[in-house]
Amino acid sequence: PEHKTSNFLRAIIERDLEQGSYASRRWAGTPGDGAHHGQGEPDPAKIRTRFPPEPNGYLHVGHAKSICLNFGLARDYGGVCHMRFDDTNPEKEEKEYVDSILDAVQWLGFGWESSFGGRTESHLYYASDYFDFMYRAAEALVQAGLAYVDEQTPEQMRASRGDFTTPGTDSPFRARSPEENLARLREMRDGRHADGAMVLRAKIDMASPNINLRDPAIYRIRRATHHNTGDRWCIYPMYTFAHPIEDALENITHSICTLEFEDQRPFYDWLLDKLAELGLLARPLPRQYEFARLNLTYVITSKRKLAQLVNEGHVSGWDDPRMPTIVGLRRRGYTPESLQLFAERIGVTKADSWIDYSTLEIALRDDLENKAHRGMAVLDPVKLVLTNWDEVMGAGHLEPCSLPALPHVAEGRTPPPAREFTIGREVWIEREDFAEVPPKGYKRLFPGNKVRLKGGFVVECTGCEKDADGRVTAVLATVVPDTKSGTPGADAVKVKAAITWVGVADGVAAEVRLYDRLFTDAHPDAGGKDFKASLNPDSCRVITAYVEPSLAQAVPDQKFQFERHGYFVADRQDHAPGRPVFNRITGLKDSWGK
Ligand code: ATP
Ligand code: MG
Ligand code: MG
Repeated sequence: PEHKTSNFLRAIIERDLEQGSYASRRWAGTPGDGAHHGQGEPDPAKIRTRFPPEPNGYLHVGHAKSICLNFGLARDYGGVCHMRFDDTNPEKEEKEYVDSILDAVQWLGFGWESSFGGRTESHLYYASDYFDFMYRAAEALVQAGLAYVDEQTPEQMRASRGDFTTPGTDSPFRARSPEENLARLREMRDGRHADGAMVLRAKIDMASPNINLRDPAIYRIRRATHHNTGDRWCIYPMYTFAHPIEDALENITHSICTLEFEDQRPFYDWLLDKLAELGLLARPLPRQYEFARLNLTYVITSKRKLAQLVNEGHVSGWDDPRMPTIVGLRRRGYTPESLQLFAERIGVTKADSWIDYSTLEIALRDDLENKAHRGMAVLDPVKLVLTNWDEVMGAGHLEPCSLPALPHVAEGRTPPPAREFTIGREVWIEREDFAEVPPKGYKRLFPGNKVRLKGGFVVECTGCEKDADGRVTAVLATVVPDTKSGTPGADAVKVKAAITWVGVADGVAAEVRLYDRLFTDAHPDAGGKDFKASLNPDSCRVITAYVEPSLAQAVPDQKFQFERHGYFVADRQDHAPGRPVFNRITGLKDSWGK
């Protein structure tokens, strides 16, 4: 593992640990509706973080950053990261997304169990399990004169909120008595009012320079069936009210979110402070910290826009290997380790910026370099015929060859078995490895020149055959006897190049999907641009290639380095024994736009 670079979040956590900011916390296990909060034993977890997605879509590479960050900090500092579904919005959430999110987090290498003193606990939570507590908190605020039911229309509320230059004005309902507000809130809860007829608002300050403190709505009426609580509730808490409470009930210490929530922090603190004063929550309270979200060049990460790509058929689904979703990256061949490495390298900052797409590709190459077995594949095949083969080697003879599966094996490690393949009279080579008239400096096959077939023999080019259109249909050469790789004297004949090849006798035809970036514009949706205008028409090219036998034996999801071509993966869905299908993950070096 790489050295962990420090960042502002690590500095905050280290300071808190040093000062014992959270040393007095009590932990009573699973947060129920809050009744146990703060009444248990000392919390054995040094810190608690959380990953709180809304189950309304598939996770993407930006979420991967957040997962690696939150779970990674908990792991590194003797803490626990809670897996929490922020499912307070009844309309948009589905079980399918819950399952795919859990799967993505585990695939990335993280879990939500804690194990302290031989006791194992699972920290998988649903915000909707706290609806009872949230409602009690709302009543407590009302009784304390800190919240009121506002019956203004949404338009009136918007108009009276003011803006950056104008303070807001008080609602005519703001001065109602706590008793009257409590009665109204209970009517809301009991379904006595229509959707949208009124909202519960925190009573803070209509003149605050922070618009989020101008009496934000905290509960609304919405008759919608919730995937967890069904039709039990017809009022639902607003996100800004629910989220701090979720954090506090779970004893979260460091609540890490993206920068757009910075302006919400004063309300986060206000709410938790008031609920602690009212005796509903125990101190120390969680604190919110913001970091810059991931922006990756050539990639869009808005769930809504990604859904559009799927629904309009620009990609084959959420797991299309060109999608920046975790399921898409996984099918493309990205490994959990490469995504962790990526997240570690980009780090966390307080300022928005763009990360170059190549950073992701470099992380993948660094991860696979010493792991992915090598193999030869010919992507643009033309036949090379060794015209003297039968005389020199015997008619129909196939000579066994082998090459190491990995060129570098760490000290003390057992190298994997070598790849076995054969060479005969005919082999497939890359069309670009022959030139009838060689360009200056060309070292591969041209009449009169000798090259080595990698792991095989030295051959001398004698010419080619062409069809009526002048297209080369076969390259001709003679095999130079006694030059087989790995045999004594093999190097006596000097050559300037070794080329990759696959035997016609034992090579296997494979479908290869050459993926490229989905967009040609580095910032496809910046500044309200129409991202569909820069869809790359060549983002997927499907070809038939020939691969050596070891590659044909791949299992789904197995990664390889195709020598000279890049990293490839046997497709998780479509690859099968006898029907190989490979996806290009990335080339060997960054070639985009060069
Ligand atoms: P979208 O806006 O695409 O719907 P979201 O931000 O609403 O995504 P959530 O499910 O609410 O998605 O996010 C879960 C967590 O992932 C949040 O803590 C959020 O801050 C974080 N997250 C989402 N997108 C990014 C990103 N691009 N970079 C870093 N973290 C992100
Ligand atoms: Mg969200
Ligand atoms: Mg969002």
